[in-house]
Amino acid sequence: MIDFSLDPQMEELRTRAREFVRDIVVPREHDPRQDRHGPSDELRLELVAQARSAGLLSAHAPVEWGGLGLDHRGRALLLEEAGYSPIGPLALNVQAPDEGNTNLLEKVATPEQKERFLRPLVSGEQRSAFCMTEPDGGAGSDPRLLRTTATPDSRGGYVLNGRKWLITGFPGARFVIVMARTLDDTGRDLGASMFLFDTERAGMTMVGQLNTMDNNSPGGHAIVDFEDVRVGADEVLGEVGRGFRYAQLRLGPARMTHCMRWLGAARRCHDIAVDYARERHAFGKRLGDHEGVGFMLADNEMDLHSSRLLIWQACWLLDQGARAREETSMAKVYCSEALSRVVDRSVQILGGRGITDHTVVERIYRDIRSFRIYDGPSEVHRWALARSIVDEPGGREAGMK
Ligand SMILES: Cc1cc2nc3c(=O)[nH]c(=O)nc-3n(C[C@H](O)[C@H](O)[C@H](O)COP(=O)(O)OP(=O)(O)OC[C@H]3O[C@@H](n4cnc5c(N)ncnc54)[C@H](O)[C@@H]3O)c2cc1C
Repeated sequence: MIDFSLDPQMEELRTRAREFVRDIVVPREHDPRQDRHGPSDELRLELVAQARSAGLLSAHAPVEWGGLGLDHRGRALLLEEAGYSPIGPLALNVQAPDEGNTNLLEKVATPEQKERFLRPLVSGEQRSAFCMTEPDGGAGSDPRLLRTTATPDSRGGYVLNGRKWLITGFPGARFVIVMARTLDDTGRDLGASMFLFDTERAGMTMVGQLNTMDNNSPGGHAIVDFEDVRVGADEVLGEVGRGFRYAQLRLGPARMTHCMRWLGAARRCHDIAVDYARERHAFGKRLGDHEGVGFMLADNEMDLHSSRLLIWQACWLLDQGARAREETSMAKVYCSEALSRVVDRSVQILGGRGITDHTVVERIYRDIRSFRIYDGPSEVHRWALARSIVDEPGGREAGMK
């Protein structure tokens, strides 16, 4: 039985976050320190300082590392509030990829690595990047195509070679987590490993910044080359050869936090569309009184409500310690598509205004598109789910028993 009740402390925290986003964050949405590669770090740090004073920083991170230590359902509430503004997740320090990297470091890093990398990440002083995807036929939807290599050097460390792209937040990040195919002295493939090190490293170069549809991440998305980059044995994250396992560990909760943030963003668009449908008149009545518009608003409510339920169910399972792989996968596909529909209908209800920057809907419309692609495109999730349906004797439900 899923428990939907909230304790009074959580209610209070959610109200505080809602008011903070409304009063402090939303008025900064037109701050000029933003370009097509996202908000500047100066703006980010100002917002983070204000969220810190309001006691709202890093909902997902454990208390011992400086976060609020909320469970998955608590995160769902706070990240939805953060997502209400495109710069809200930055302010509350719950933005990708830092939020996913925090969870990964907390689970896998050594105590020394945590002190050095996790603490400043949770406090919002530093940003990080996660380097997995590769251009030109390398790792993407299929991570097994990983081409970047880590070969052993004579000092017990490794030498990295390869090219990564679509690396969110690389410009300005203080450290990186890099996924590479690890070879032993004889050239035998030991599988993928993760490496954790700072960005001031010889041989690691940003080749370019990509011009993309979205602009909600500081630094945007970069192409990064690794040419004989030396890393020490103490810069391996976790164990050699377990990189794909760790990637899954990172991705499950990270998929859910994307759903939470985009739920807030879609709710914002819907609220703006509702206001317009109430005020604007055409053909003798309010827009909202026309069935065509009223039905779009009703469909928005249904998509928002069902997305929230799926998020809550997957979070509840995660809070029980369940694997919930299929549930997070289904939630990711459903929310990315349903919430995109909400944003699209909101543009439609706003008419010509919807495609202008007179409302934030236009920005969210551009930003949300990639949600159906990253952390597993919808088709890959459907394909994996289909395999589990077909392969499990008695169907997926039987396989879950
Ligand atoms: C905004 C954004 C931010 C990102 N940030 C990062 C980051 O910080 N770090 C990082 O490492 N990567 C990042 N990525 C990359 C992201 O993880 C990849 O784009 C994603 O994994 C898909 O890989 P690909 O782009 O190579 O697409 P491809 O692998 O080329 O796939 C293209 C399309 O083929 C289809 N397809 C693939 N496999 C199947 C299948 N089995 N069945 C049916 N259809 C299929 C899907 O429609 C898919 O969209 C980011 C991407 C975006 C858009």
